[in-house]
Amino acid sequence: MLHLIHRAGQYTGRIAIATPEGRYAYEALLAASARVAGQLLNGKTDLQEAPVAFMVRPGFEYVATQWGIWRAGGIAVPLCVSHPLPALRYVVQDARAGALVADPEFEHLLRPLAEEVGIPFYPSGTAQAHTGKLPEVASSRRAMILYTSGTTGKPKGVVTTYEALEAQISTLVQAWEWQPTDHILNILPLHHVHGIVNVLSCALWSGACCEFLPKFDAEAVLEVFRRGAVNVFMAVPTIYYKLIAAWEALPAGEQAAVSASLRRFRLMVSGSAALPVSVLEKWRHISGHTLLERYGMTEMGMAVSNPYRGQRRPGYIGQPLPGVQLRLVDEKGQEIRQEGVAGEIQVKGPNVFREYWQKPEATREAFTPDGWFRTGDIATLEAGSYRILGRNSVDIIKSGGYKISALEIEEVLRTHPHIKDCGVVGIADEEWGELVAASLVPAAD
Ligand code: AMP
Repeated sequence: MLHLIHRAGQYTGRIAIATPEGRYAYEALLAASARVAGQLLNGKTDLQEAPVAFMVRPGFEYVATQWGIWRAGGIAVPLCVSHPLPALRYVVQDARAGALVADPEFEHLLRPLAEEVGIPFYPSGTAQAHTGKLPEVASSRRAMILYTSGTTGKPKGVVTTYEALEAQISTLVQAWEWQPTDHILNILPLHHVHGIVNVLSCALWSGACCEFLPKFDAEAVLEVFRRGAVNVFMAVPTIYYKLIAAWEALPAGEQAAVSASLRRFRLMVSGSAALPVSVLEKWRHISGHTLLERYGMTEMGMAVSNPYRGQRRPGYIGQPLPGVQLRLVDEKGQEIRQEGVAGEIQVKGPNVFREYWQKPEATREAFTPDGWFRTGDIATLEAGSYRILGRNSVDIIKSGGYKISALEIEEVLRTHPHIKDCGVVGIADEEWGELVAASLVPAAD
């Protein structure tokens, strides 16, 4: 059984989740996830790795559903709550989901989809008490599928086992010194590794509290910071950029109050895209913190991090996390051993994913013959710290922390009757990291 859920039993009486609707203790999470597991099992003894897609807003029901799927022996497939129907249909079909769980507000969209593909639909929060036994789930089994864009066509499902998830979580808990007294505000989407692993799962692994806001709003986030309960925060650079703009728009007295609260934080992290040094410097001025920049990927969780204690170098991602093996490799496949020479980052370790869902060819191509995961990111080592230079494919765009396939956008644009051909690229931008730009060849003059 997943350690994350086991550990929750030690945290009786502590608050796991705080939302505008209420505060939920760890035992409430255990009880609610057991009910979800019972509902999904529906008389079976084990879902035996059946994927279950769920579209639930970040909050208590999200975690109850995620844990419920795991406790029933299924694979959790979180859907993006802002995706349109065609993107949702793609994931549900590609994952071969055996059931769909969704918030009642999404029922009009997803119940018909569930009927179309012939699987049961469950509105979140409707599971009844479950008294039966739940299966023992071995940690070598598949736990989660996250969809991520690559250089080839549609997004691929990244399959992570419980073991890999636990390695990803425990290495961060150790490196960033998570405490049961921590209180983190999550504003990240929960269909992506950053929110799911770094924020939510690390908090719950540690007995800490994870607070949610219904949606990202820079003023509301600063207001929560000002109240003083939150002491850990993690976001993509674009979010820090927006928080800086919101702070600059405040009257001087309120700026001082927010800054005073921020100075009491234990930890503030940035990642999922390169952190511009200008953003790091402005945030240091506002908060007194040098943002801890780390580097990771859906396929491996976090791999490299600046130190929690010790010098954090602006513009650098730091050193490999405990348990993560990393090497730089040149175009001929030779390992680079000197500093200052650029090469592809390749990673090995218990944190690395198992496979792309139902794509053995893509999985094979993602690894070297001796088992290193090819990240596609180019970096150098300089005075003991790694620095990301870019990706080895221009077809991957990173905007607002999201990975976007230029090829996928081109395919859609080409279906437009007035577009004969097109090329899509990312253009450097301080706020978004990259903007998506398209040049078009019109069908007529
Ligand atoms: P995702 O799988 O969506 O998390 O995207 C992973 C990709 O984000 C990596 O392969 C990198 O290209 C990029 N990335 C993540 N963290 C950083 C960082 N600190 N600096 C630069 N790029 C990053």
